[in-house]
Amino acid sequence: MVYKIRIRRQENRKSDRYWQEFEFDGSENSSVASVLNELNSRSPLKDNSGNIAAPIGWECGCMVRKCGACAMLINGLPRLACSTFLNTLRGTTITLEPFSKFPLVRDLIVDRSILFENLKKLNLWLDSEAYMNPWTHEPRYQSARCLMCGCCLEVCPNFHTDGTFAGAIAAVNAFRILNEEQEATHKNEISAEYKEKYFEGCGKSLSCHDICPIRLPVEELLVRSNAAAIWGK
Ligand code: SF4
Ligand code: SF4
Repeated sequence: MVYKIRIRRQENRKSDRYWQEFEFDGSENSSVASVLNELNSRSPLKDNSGNIAAPIGWECGCMVRKCGACAMLINGLPRLACSTFLNTLRGTTITLEPFSKFPLVRDLIVDRSILFENLKKLNLWLDSEAYMNPWTHEPRYQSARCLMCGCCLEVCPNFHTDGTFAGAIAAVNAFRILNEEQEATHKNEISAEYKEKYFEGCGKSLSCHDICPIRLPVEELLVRSNAAAIWGK
């Protein structure tokens, strides 16, 4: 099958952005990540107009849906390039763009460091030995699976990198720590930060729930974190 791969290119934050198109003639079972690898293995890489193109900037740490680094907009939706296969996309034109909510580094690479800074501000670490409640084992496990990919932040109408709202990723990760922390003072600090940086800013639209590429129970974790932090349940 022959695909047209449209990629939004930008050398750096200050340079002009432009679209470049490439042809990919390969299996419809290919992932977007393997398409990008194949394009970058061409020497020289030429676009559909025959112009020599610079290698496409994109990030990937594992190729198996474990690191979250290859998150990008694929046909307009946040997805992981490693686990989005051509035969699951409509049509034969595939459009790739970087996330819009984070500062651009190059081409499909963005700087997601604000996501980690926000988690630090929530004090999301343990000050005590972890309390292992068998009744919360499954949601704590789900909370720990979060890839920090940022897909839930890209679709969130209330998340902006220059704001204080930390987005669903904070609630997903807070659940585990709120349940395991035994030191009351620290737990109260987390709860106070959570209230200010998540609970009061969330509009409950739940755009974050369906977009999670590893199908975390985002809604359940938001509800449980709200209960633990706000109502002490
Ligand atoms: S429920 Fe809506 S406002 Fe709240 S974190 Fe999810 S997408 Fe953002
Ligand atoms: S909750 Fe899901 S979408 Fe959000 S950062 Fe974690 S893995 Fe990504």
